[in-house]
Amino acid sequence: EHVAKLVASRIVDVPDFPQPGVVFKDISPLLADPAGFRAVVDAIVTEQRATGFEVVAGIEARGFVLAAAVAYAAEVGVVAVRKAGKLPRATFAASYSLEYGEATLEVHRDAFLPGQRVLVVDDVLATGGTARATLDLVEQAGGAVSGLTVLLELGFLAGRAKVDGYPVHALLTV
Ligand code: IMP
Repeated sequence: EHVAKLVASRIVDVPDFPQPGVVFKDISPLLADPAGFRAVVDAIVTEQRATGFEVVAGIEARGFVLAAAVAYAAEVGVVAVRKAGKLPRATFAASYSLEYGEATLEVHRDAFLPGQRVLVVDDVLATGGTARATLDLVEQAGGAVSGLTVLLELGFLAGRAKVDGYPVHALLTV
């Protein structure tokens, strides 16, 4: 598919980042490319339109870039799912384990209307911990997950198993 090839051609592999042995997939060249950025945003909107999403939730930080553009194109609002301690009002929190230690994500308690259909957007689905925590947060806050969409899925990390039962879409899976 055209967009998958475009994504593949604009991602740079960075060996040993953020730690030895990990190959980080850097999507910043894709976002910086005018045709690339537009194509991925349009592909997400087109692919998700039939789900009837009413708001887009982006995961800090690269998810914000995509979520905002998708929300603007679809003429809906955007909600930030943030790392702990950044949001100023009452939040729900969800923690998940990383290779070393824990991470916590938060969303404002009043971020969603009851039953509002929420499209969750991030750049990369790796082990799935981040996505899973976010889906749990959306539901805690009373939203209904209409789908999870990412630019890139690292299939060998089996993140999809962590978000089993939800509609997951990746523009490219490697
Ligand atoms: P997970 O929780 O292991 O699925 O990791 C996903 C989160 O970490 C996403 O928010 C990504 O932005 C980030 N991430 C993990 N691996 C990569 C990568 O190779 N490239 C870019 N982001 C990554």
